Amino acid sequence: MASPLSRMLPLAAAAMECRLSGRLGTEPRDMSLSPSKGYYSRVRLHGDLVVSYWLRAVGGAVRPTLQHEEAAPRRFDHKFPLLNGLNADHHSACCDAIREVLLRARTPLGLDAGSWDDSLADHLATLTVDAVRRERVAGDGGEHRGVPPRFDVDLALTIVAEFVYSEPKALLLACDKAAAATTTRAPPCRAGDAECRVCVEAKEDTMARLPCSHSFHRGCILPWFDKVATCPMCGHDVAKYLAAATNTPIGKFPAALFGP
Ligand SMILES: [Zn+2]
Ligand SMILES: [Zn+2]
Repeated sequence: MASPLSRMLPLAAAAMECRLSGRLGTEPRDMSLSPSKGYYSRVRLHGDLVVSYWLRAVGGAVRPTLQHEEAAPRRFDHKFPLLNGLNADHHSACCDAIREVLLRARTPLGLDAGSWDDSLADHLATLTVDAVRRERVAGDGGEHRGVPPRFDVDLALTIVAEFVYSEPKALLLACDKAAAATTTRAPPCRAGDAECRVCVEAKEDTMARLPCSHSFHRGCILPWFDKVATCPMCGHDVAKYLAAATNTPIGKFPAALFGP
């Protein structure tokens, strides 16, 4: 299973954000817990990975629109032992183990660490530990000759992976690239160039410079690009730089990411 991002031009891939969320199944059988005969508690995480693609377009009022959803969910099935046992004191061990499994589930998607919503592992660990605690209260209450109880835990999950193409981010990267190619032709500084013209604050070292030579704080120009693909100062149309850098016209999802 190749990463969908590997089929994109690097600049477009760099503007792709990945959102992951997950939920437990709602049927009683989607979460089961039974006493284990093994030496360790064991957890099985299995279910569907649902992958969809979204476009957050320049001028799209920040709301992404769905472009494509994979017809068939990708199945995953992982089993792992919890070597440190499984009880109310071991939330963090359970969390680490679940995080490890989710890491393996997302690797084929080419997701990086920053794109990961860590609350999912914490949420699942809490559910698991709570279920164990309930089982212990309902059962004989715990230890046999000093040995902590062990369980087989089975969790059916749906993990949702949303690839969101941020066109404003791609536009900024494309402008960076085009501006770098025109460095030698940049005009000399003029009066008033000491401030960013969006927020009227002093400029910093890491300004975004557009191909028209006007520069802005990155945090100022990006929200501007949410609305329109022009320079705030001179109205220079920058959409063509995006089209050139991504082979995709403005307002479109990058080609060749999904489909044949
Ligand atoms: Zn600014
Ligand atoms: Zn300009």
